[in-house]
Amino acid sequence: MQALRLHGKRDSWLTLWSQCAPTQVRVEVEFCGICGSDIHEYLAGPILAPAGGNPNEHTGATLPVIMGHEMSGTITELGEQVKGFTIGQKVVVNPLVSDFEHGTPPCLSCLAGRINTCKRATFYGINTPGGGFSSQITVNPSNLILVPENVSLKIAALAEPLAVATHMIRKSGFTAGQSVLILGAGPIGLALLMLLRSMEVGKIFVSEVSDLRIQQARQLGADAVIDPTKVSSANPSNLVLNAIHEVLEEGVDISFDASGLQSTLETAIAAVRPGGAIFNVAIHEKPLLLNLNDISVTEKNLTGGICYTKEDFELVMTLLSNKRIAAEHMITSVVPLTDVVKGGFLELIDNKTQHVKILIQPTI
Ligand SMILES: [Zn+2]
Repeated sequence: MQALRLHGKRDSWLTLWSQCAPTQVRVEVEFCGICGSDIHEYLAGPILAPAGGNPNEHTGATLPVIMGHEMSGTITELGEQVKGFTIGQKVVVNPLVSDFEHGTPPCLSCLAGRINTCKRATFYGINTPGGGFSSQITVNPSNLILVPENVSLKIAALAEPLAVATHMIRKSGFTAGQSVLILGAGPIGLALLMLLRSMEVGKIFVSEVSDLRIQQARQLGADAVIDPTKVSSANPSNLVLNAIHEVLEEGVDISFDASGLQSTLETAIAAVRPGGAIFNVAIHEKPLLLNLNDISVTEKNLTGGICYTKEDFELVMTLLSNKRIAAEHMITSVVPLTDVVKGGFLELIDNKTQHVKILIQPTI
């Protein structure tokens, strides 16, 4: 089969690759989304991918690795020891591989059911052999989530970013009726917006600079979408805070920072009412400055989260099956595997503001 493998910085090409163990399941990949982390690996990698000559100690993965970790597909082969699945079932792959799959003694996180913080966590498509930018992948059966009959594999390929957003909402302590600010309407910000809309959220404010994403945030039900850069010299105040305070004098209950900039962190903190929560969703490239008085004096809670557990994927499948979220709006392009670098990576780098989620479809 063909697969796109990362060899190094700006160095990825299609090659032949194959294997299936008795304990594994072979999945024909139908769709695989491109994540911002794939772009980071392509532009500056290897970052999380193991460097050449330095294999991951738990998976043996080393450059070149097959990329892609947001995949949906169909089961085409069952290893002889695999039970509980049948050929032809539609699935998504939870790419997170924990101690339970590695066969290592479970760490404290794994024992507590928090496999997303497993100290030995690895991912298909990054540092575990096999990825979604490929016609096929072989995975551990425990990494599979069944896709309900009435959910298409195209929509199901969004399960991973939706699971991230689901996990963040669960960890934030959000309860029905609370008002929220989302900073950044990229794939995760929009996923947060859609999911919160399906959970009886109060007011939702979104801060975003890209015209396409502003439009999408409006379509997906934000009460107000504010471009914080549209300040004038006559009125240099914080437009996001102004918009919130017109409606909610003391601020929102929770702000989700899906941008990770100094300016978005400051707005996220200032926008929350006393006792409210600031939840970091972003991956930061560098440390930010923080005056902890801004947290202490008003007893705000600053916290964050990472990834997902299998429960998050299952919750997403239920929401998709019940048509509670219109996730198809996130897909802005679908390209064949042979076009993944030019039509996928470079398109997301050069025309970033024109896209939310590009899917790779190896079967076309
Ligand atoms: Zn662990």
